[in-house]
Amino acid sequence: LSEKLQNVFKNLRSKGRLTEDDVKAALKEVKMALLEADVSFKVVKEFIKAVQDRAVGQDVMSSLTPGQMVIKIVNEEMVRLMGSETTEIKLKPSNEITVIMMAGLQGAGKTTTIAKIAGKLKSKGRKPLLAACDIYRPAAIQQLQINGQKQGVEVFAMGTSHKPVNIVKAAVEHAGKNGFNVVIIDTAGRLHIDEDMMNELIEIKENVNVDQTILVVDAMTGQDAVNVAGMFNDKVGIDGVVLTKLDGDTRGGAALSIRAVTGKPILYIGMGEKLSDLEQFYPDRMASRILGMGDILTLIEKAESEVDKDKARELEQKLRKAQFGFDDFLDQMNQIKKMGGLKDILGMMPGMGAQMKNLDAIDDGAMDKVEAIILSMTPKERTNPDILNPSRKNRIAKGAGVDISEVNKLVKQFEQTRKMMKQMPGLMGGKGGKKGKF
Ligand code: GDP
Ligand code: MG
Repeated sequence: LSEKLQNVFKNLRSKGRLTEDDVKAALKEVKMALLEADVSFKVVKEFIKAVQDRAVGQDVMSSLTPGQMVIKIVNEEMVRLMGSETTEIKLKPSNEITVIMMAGLQGAGKTTTIAKIAGKLKSKGRKPLLAACDIYRPAAIQQLQINGQKQGVEVFAMGTSHKPVNIVKAAVEHAGKNGFNVVIIDTAGRLHIDEDMMNELIEIKENVNVDQTILVVDAMTGQDAVNVAGMFNDKVGIDGVVLTKLDGDTRGGAALSIRAVTGKPILYIGMGEKLSDLEQFYPDRMASRILGMGDILTLIEKAESEVDKDKARELEQKLRKAQFGFDDFLDQMNQIKKMGGLKDILGMMPGMGAQMKNLDAIDDGAMDKVEAIILSMTPKERTNPDILNPSRKNRIAKGAGVDISEVNKLVKQFEQTRKMMKQMPGLMGGKGGKKGKF
């Protein structure tokens, strides 16, 4: 029965659930947006189905329209699909040599990206050596040398008459003797997928201990980039991808498809021809770029902060009735953490300033300690702080692994906060904002 009751309340509070019609209508637009952004048809189809399954029946957040709610889910799913977080190139410890092989079609941006990555590694204290293995175009070796010089990174070259695999072997040996700890191999691309190219890469992998094979693909080529990534992954095996030329006007849907097709992370994105134009890949930024619904996503973000305001108003009511307990304190602290730190929040509260100075003691680093203390309290103690006598405080201190003086300090701060908040009208954000429309 209690579960039923809970559901009734849930429904009363929310605007209901997403119906199949809501979801279908919104997903029609999403589908168009993804196809326009060069996400491959197969990936779009699978993606839409996954979102549909997840979305139908979900509660609509109180400050969102059903359409916005679907977009919110779409955005989350895209981020999840692209890996949820940024990934770095895996490097061995500095006292060993990490061998990185760069692969990709001609013109994708391998040689340029190698110089960019070398610069990044150098600034991290690594000592990279670049191995010139594009033996088919004499200009390619020169290009690598020029880029290497710009970055202050040595290039190992043996001209155009040795097999790439032998150049790599010699380069790794050279690295070992001269204190280099990363070798980046600049391989030769071809205009199209080509047996010779693949075999050359496979031969290197079979004869040298390649730690990371990084594929470079041109985002402007859209679907082709995805096919190329699939083939390289099947034939040679790749560990990560760099997506170049995202400074152009492509929306970059290839990023979504590549991850879906290869299962390999995108590490960096190329944002220009300059050697500093290499950026970390952020799935959330990429998702909103691909979706091309920046405005709506901003609206959704705002709406989400409205939800936080709803919570704040609830808190304010509690304060007035003096029901404010440690659980609420913890809740509030977590919200502060989420929103980027105490100082920022103080700045956002009207009429705060000097009176909040005593809260400064709870800097963001100390929050974990505070959390530990509160979590060591019994539920009764949390809702009813007045019962905290010395023996209870002692037990709490032991549980949290802190000195009892820390517990005393927190209780005092809590009481001050509670008192202060009771005196402050409209403290927690005041009147509600407007509801967004989609
Ligand atoms: P490779 O054949 O794979 O070695 O490709 P290159 O490194 O020679 O690059 C081919 C062309 O693409 C060059 O003109 C580069 O300046 C350019 N390029 C590489 N990366 C980017 C990028 O992220 N943005 C832009 N706009 N151009 C790039
Ligand atoms: Mg090249």
